[in-house]
Parts: sequence; structure tokens; C-alpha cells
Amino acid sequence: MQDTLYDVLIIGGGPAGLTAGLYTSRADLKTVLVESMMVGGQVITTTKIENYPGFPGGVDGPELMQRFHEHCQEYGLQIVQGEVQQLNDKGEIKEVVVDGRSLQARAVIVATGAEPRKLGIPGEAELVGRGVSYCATCDGAFFRNVPVAVVGGGDTAAEEALFLSRFASKVYLVHRRDALRATRILQERIFANDKIEVVWDSLPEQVMSDNRGVNGLEVKNKFSGEKSVLEVEGVFFAIGVIPKAHFLADVLDLNEDGYIVTDTECRTSIPGVFAAGDVRNKTLKQIATAVGDGAVAAITAEKYLDEL
Ligand code: NAP
Repeated sequence: MQDTLYDVLIIGGGPAGLTAGLYTSRADLKTVLVESMMVGGQVITTTKIENYPGFPGGVDGPELMQRFHEHCQEYGLQIVQGEVQQLNDKGEIKEVVVDGRSLQARAVIVATGAEPRKLGIPGEAELVGRGVSYCATCDGAFFRNVPVAVVGGGDTAAEEALFLSRFASKVYLVHRRDALRATRILQERIFANDKIEVVWDSLPEQVMSDNRGVNGLEVKNKFSGEKSVLEVEGVFFAIGVIPKAHFLADVLDLNEDGYIVTDTECRTSIPGVFAAGDVRNKTLKQIATAVGDGAVAAITAEKYLDEL
């Protein structure tokens, strides 16, 4: 494997990476995909996906990703497990260091995704999938007619609170300051929504649970120190995301939030290196848009290789 010169090396095996791998393998380009964990990315942590076309009634995240994987295997996509530490631009050849081994490719597609920032309070990690979520679009519909809390004060938290208000009986928006960071129009919608109550100047202390899952969020007022429990069955953390691009900071142009800067064809600042999915600068982060990116990056990489 180390001596092989690949046409395309894909970093990341979520929807964007697998779609790119499907396209390049099917185009007979010698492709290897490197994934540090299980193939499927963040999607495999989602119980049910109801907004990916073609699956009326929804589909479980692991099942959807298994189908992506099998589809790639039909075209012989080689998948290796490993953590990418480094990308070196050597002109027409790119070197990717995976767990200390050097792999060579003529084109690289970065599809490493982004991960929600964790708050790290007791109960948070243990209750993921049992009432704790980082994605209202994915999980909101499971919280019909029950109270929920959203943590954060930015655009994502505001949008999640508004989305959840369609389903939940009540939405507490827990924010650490006395003013939201979200844009004015979102703030106006928040304040006009009868179902949403903003809990100002408050820091979550712990997610509480019984044997059925989440049953409360303990919050502390940062001025009075007073603690109270919001009786909720769901807690959505929306305190920002972290793109998984830190290992590329010395090589590629990243924006101020750490996302890889690309053009609309998924080209990065280095010729022959492309980025697809949640790791690149774009607004809507969904499986459908990641799949679109994967296809665009693969076709752009193919054109680039033709022109070399
Ligand atoms: P964000 O703008 O960074 O907001 C994160 C929020 O979480 C902030 O209100 C922050 O509080 C709070 N927070 C951060 N760390 C915390 C902690 N440890 N404890 C408690 N609260 C904490 O993240 P985002 O809302 O995900 O948005 C990211 C970017 O995407 C932004 O540029 C945003 O404008 C953009 N975005 C745009 C749209 C849209 O245009 N429709 C939608 C979503 C996101 P403070 O306010 O006190 O810092």
C-alpha cells in the first residue's frame, strides 16, 4: 500500500467521503479512503434520519451508512483505517501521513466533517441518544408534546429552538449571557414565540435522568449562584461546532472558524486538494448537502487529473 501511487486519496468516511469514493472508483480512478473510526461518520450516531430522500418512513443512520459502504464496495473502493496526521504538498504528488505511514496520491479529497462542541457537564456524554442531542433537525421530531431545553445563544441555538417549538410542548433556551448572539431576525422570532422561554445568565450544571432517559437539566444563575432544575425530556447542545481540519492548518487556507476555504467546485487553496462536506465553508450541513459536495469534489478531482 505504501508504494502505491493512488489517483485519489479521500480523508474521511462519512457521507461526503463515501460519495466521493463511489464516484472516483466508478470512474476507474485508483482510490483509497482513510477513516479513523468506523465508516459512516457522525451519521451512525443518529438513530433515525427522516429527511434523506428515498427512504419514506425514515432510515436508521447505521443502516444508511452501511448501504453507502456496500455501494462503494461494488466499485472496489479501498478503505483503510487510520488517523491522518499530515498532508504534504509535493506538487503533482501529495503525501498523506497515516499513523506514521506515508501514502502518495495525485489528488486528495478532505471530507473529515465537523463535530459539535461538547460542554462536558455530567450526564451529557452518557445520555447521547437517550435525550441528549446535538442536532434538532435530526432528532427534534422525537420530542413531540414534551418540554425540551436548548443550550446556546447563537444562530444555531436560535434556529434549533424555533424548529423544536414545532414539536415540543415548551422550549427553554438556556444562555450564559443576558443577550443572544443570534441575528436580530432570529431573536425577534424567538421573543415572539409563546413556546420559547429564554433562561438568561445561566450555565447548565448537569443533565439529569431516570431509567427512561433525560428528565431534567440543572442550571445555575451565574450572578445569584441559585440552582434550579428545568423539567425537560430533551437537551439540545448548540454551543458551536469544531471542524476537523486542525491537522491541515499549516497547509490549507482555513477561515476564521477553522473551516477549509473552497470555491463552489470544492477546490481548496492547493491545486489537487479538494474539500467536501461539513469541513468546508458552507451554511447548510446536512447529509444531502454532504452527498452533493462529495459528487462535486470527485468530478472536479477527475477533471484536475485529466488536465495533469
Ligand atoms: P456560535 O455563533 O459560536 O454560538 C455559540 C453559542 O454558544 C454562543 O451564544 C455562545 O455564548 C454559546 N457558548 C459557547 N460556548 C459555551 C459554553 N461553554 N457554555 C455555554 N454557552 C456557550 O455557534 P453557532 O450558533 O453554531 O454558529 C456558528 C456560525 O454559523 C456563526 O457564524 C453563525 O452565524 C453561523 N450560522 C448561521 C446560520 C444562519 O445564517 N442561518 C445558522 C447557523 C449558524 P456567547 O454568545 O456568550 O459567546
